[in-house]
Amino acid sequence: MAETAQTAEESKDPRAIARMLHVATTLPDRQVFTKMDRASYTTVDYYRMACHLIFRCHRCGTCCTTGDPIRLKPEDASVIARHLKIPLNKAIKKLTIPDPDKPGVLDFKHILPCKFYDKNAGGCRIYAARPWSCRIFPFLGIYGSEDQVVVNESCPGSVETMKILTEVLDEVRSDQMNHPPYDPKEVRRAKEFLRQALSLV
Ligand code: SF4
Ligand code: SF4
Repeated sequence: MAETAQTAEESKDPRAIARMLHVATTLPDRQVFTKMDRASYTTVDYYRMACHLIFRCHRCGTCCTTGDPIRLKPEDASVIARHLKIPLNKAIKKLTIPDPDKPGVLDFKHILPCKFYDKNAGGCRIYAARPWSCRIFPFLGIYGSEDQVVVNESCPGSVETMKILTEVLDEVRSDQMNHPPYDPKEVRRAKEFLRQALSLV
């Protein structure tokens, strides 16, 4: 098996993820993907993907009970309507309001707390159909800073993830200090491994 080939175990192991991140960020996308390949990402993007893969939710409910807007993609409303077995227009009228800052974007109504949050039922009542903005939280958001990985201090899973990644990345860098330059194919495989974070949301 190739050294950076993806396995189920690796996709959960912080040290393996950190190693993939280390390898993936040794060359920019343009050196390992052709123009016909998918979108190009920055080093920071790969850090955010690695964080998303390591992240484990503590189910504390903070993100579901605070005041940040919960933004919906158009398909989110359809998925939720299907999940709740109600017509789409009814779901939009009942559950959403136009985002005041982003024309054409809908936000969830009633987010203090989110009306789907139920602490006694273990969290989100529409977990399988939760909006994209909930799936990408806290590391893959497109609305925050794009030039650094933002740790959300109110999210214990976010803080924990960055601590874990920092520790294991230090170990990996130390282990790989004298490693010769990685083959572009290996770098490409490491990037593809991390990109799975995007397909999980
Ligand atoms: S704040 Fe973070 S750890 Fe808590 S429920 Fe939300 S995502 Fe999970
Ligand atoms: S939809 Fe679910 S995951 Fe998203 S804020 Fe509401 S309760 Fe939380």
